[in-house]
Amino acid sequence: MNIETIKSTARLIEIFSAIQGEGLNVGTRQIFIRFAFCDLRCHYCDSAHTWNAPDTCRIEKLPGSREFEIHPNPVSLPILIEWVKRQNIPRLHDSISLTGGEPLLHSNFLIDFLPKVRSVTSLPIYLETGGHRPEQLSKILPYLDSVGMDLKLPSTSGESHWQAHKQFLKICNRAQLEVFVKIVISQQTSWSDLEQAALLIKDINPKILVFLQPVTPLEPGKVFTSEQVFAPFPEQVLSWQASLKQLLDRVRVVPQTHKFIDQL
Ligand code: SF4
Repeated sequence: MNIETIKSTARLIEIFSAIQGEGLNVGTRQIFIRFAFCDLRCHYCDSAHTWNAPDTCRIEKLPGSREFEIHPNPVSLPILIEWVKRQNIPRLHDSISLTGGEPLLHSNFLIDFLPKVRSVTSLPIYLETGGHRPEQLSKILPYLDSVGMDLKLPSTSGESHWQAHKQFLKICNRAQLEVFVKIVISQQTSWSDLEQAALLIKDINPKILVFLQPVTPLEPGKVFTSEQVFAPFPEQVLSWQASLKQLLDRVRVVPQTHKFIDQL
């Protein structure tokens, strides 16, 4: 099945209200729309349940209640709008997070969905993405307010998408979107990958905010790829940040904070 041909329906995992734990929006309250399907297989993936579409998805009954209704997949556009409206209690949320999986695999659906959801909620739209699908990004660019782009280091993730990342970041930078780059680091991370990433970003705009995210090790039953990843040593993190700051203006180290406070 070519999932990009799906236009009027979306395969979803879940919709819920939670506190964002990563990157620039850490600590803000968001309506999360988690889409099904991912075309990557990162070694550290904590969302392997999104790789394929389940028969059903779940929607939080009231924002933050953690009680869910179960509904069949796929979900039509008007129904998804109604669900988002239900989450959108006045003054509660700072933005809507499109997450996954890889939300850009649903770009044809998002072209129709995003203008409508923006008009009914007035909330900014934030895209969380693997940063490797520039063509699909271009299609929905006018409807986005900010982008959190993963830059996958081959030594850490097992994925290699340098050219696509470069094109993707160029598009974000040109559009003057609020964009930041997230780079997951582990004990296995190589300096040559980090340097290549830094030079790629520097070449586009050295002021782009970069988050180094020390990997959260997966529990033994949740490792779905051939490699197990281990958290970087403190000395590695200090040394990598110091070296990257020689090339880039803004390099911060922030772990996945939502895991400390048991958010989804
Ligand atoms: S891009 Fe995200 S969802 Fe896909 S495999 Fe990598 S970490 Fe998992």
